[in-house]
Amino acid sequence: MQVGNNTVNEALIADVVSEVLKRLDQSRPASPVALSPVNISTDVSTAAGSHGIFSSVDDAVRAAAAAQRQLMDTSVEARGRAVECIRRVMRRDKEELGRIEFEETKLGKLAHKFEKLELAAGVPGLEMLKTEATSGDHGLTVTEFAPYGVIGVVTPVTHSVPTLGCNAIMMIAAGNALVCNPHPSGAKCAVEATRRFNRELHGEIGIDNLVCVIENPTIESATALFKHPGTPMLCATGGPGVAHAALTAGKRAVVAGPGNPPVVVDETADIEKAASGIIAGAAYDNNLLCIGEKEVFVVETVAEPLLGAMERSGGHRLSKDEIDRLAQKVVYKDEESGHWIARKEFVGKDPQVLAEVIGLRIGPDVQILFGLTDESNPLLPCEQMMPVLPMVMARNVDDAIRLAVKYEHGFKHTAVMWSRNVENLTRMGKAANTTLYVKNGPSSAGLGVGGQGYGSFSIATPTGEGITSPLSFTRYRRCTMVDSLRIF
Ligand code: NAD
Repeated sequence: MQVGNNTVNEALIADVVSEVLKRLDQSRPASPVALSPVNISTDVSTAAGSHGIFSSVDDAVRAAAAAQRQLMDTSVEARGRAVECIRRVMRRDKEELGRIEFEETKLGKLAHKFEKLELAAGVPGLEMLKTEATSGDHGLTVTEFAPYGVIGVVTPVTHSVPTLGCNAIMMIAAGNALVCNPHPSGAKCAVEATRRFNRELHGEIGIDNLVCVIENPTIESATALFKHPGTPMLCATGGPGVAHAALTAGKRAVVAGPGNPPVVVDETADIEKAASGIIAGAAYDNNLLCIGEKEVFVVETVAEPLLGAMERSGGHRLSKDEIDRLAQKVVYKDEESGHWIARKEFVGKDPQVLAEVIGLRIGPDVQILFGLTDESNPLLPCEQMMPVLPMVMARNVDDAIRLAVKYEHGFKHTAVMWSRNVENLTRMGKAANTTLYVKNGPSSAGLGVGGQGYGSFSIATPTGEGITSPLSFTRYRRCTMVDSLRIF
């Protein structure tokens, strides 16, 4: 159809095209992105025999890319055996690897390092990748889960080897290789685990470097990994800094960010169960877990019974003055951001160490410190990662839910509630809108420990994958065959 003057229309179209191209250009991230296919050299002559340990990001990505090609050329059955290799190393060597991690990071509890490796070894593998099929008059279509290639991974100091192993199982099950830039304070244990994973993998399926690690990681090497054209996908597990860096890297990212999980206890709760559940969750590994209970809001009519039950369940009650003095010593305000930050020297330390800070001596069996305070206590907004629980009385359940939402900071990570009133539980779930919401159990139940479901050490919060699984590291691929294959 011809409308009006052709020359005018052509000029108009040219203007529109030029404006669209300009806008597209402006919306492009400044850093190089890997949205289009990239050819990476897979020459691993420099990397042979490295068992995945590299000093340069370039070499590591190149070696991982070669390993991933080999993985794609091997059978799915062999891929399943590769996953079993990672599980086997974590289970078999849990005491050695756990001890190496504990001695390097000096965080948490030794026995829990072993348990976390067991938990990480049990995350799902190939069984999650179920091909979907539909057939009809027009033929057959299958949807398969294809790999990304090499995934750039960043892990936290709080669970260096469990996160690396858990990511390796899920990513390899999905057909990928990975390059990890671990936290500098948890790098030695990550290097040792990587060496063991690759030795096992090489012995079992003849492929080295499926799991690669940067031996001396820095923020610069993390940035290089994020920007590398050979890593089309990222998986970052850590606090606000790395979450922001991954979210703005300009490529597909699974981001497992920070949390500050609140607990609400209402007047209908089973108080004895709530007390022991809160302590079990918050005291675990000295409250290093991102899902660990960090602050409690209790309806005032049941506050005293709850505090009493917590004392009987392994907690040591602090007075308001004591918990307020402790807060002043173990957290500080970052003037630039205005956020309260945990002092590194107290993160993951035993409750006995924290008690000494305010001149208290407590028994070796105490698992956690807790005490009633008010909103002026900076332990409430701070993700303290220490075995101390600030508790605040609320007028009623709605007040408690309001406070819980406020101190979760919109991270959408984890919330816990103890209640036998379904309507209250539902109101909290909707208001908090978190990725994990545990009712009437410790936070760990949300990762399948005493609750239903599988676990993971990367809980993707801002990007929405939730408790990650092998599916989180795949691309959906539809294969369509036209005609002739309808047999029903
Ligand atoms: P962290 O943020 O200090 O470090 C995490 C990782 O990110 C490290 O490897 C670090 O070197 C790297 N990093 C930090 N800033 C970076 C930047 N700007 N660019 C690139 N890399 C950067 O955290 P941490 O102390 O190791 O771990 C504790 C934090 O991790 C807590 O906030 C906790 O909630 C969170 N965490 C979340 C999950 C989850 O599944 N959502 C799991 C474990 C820990």
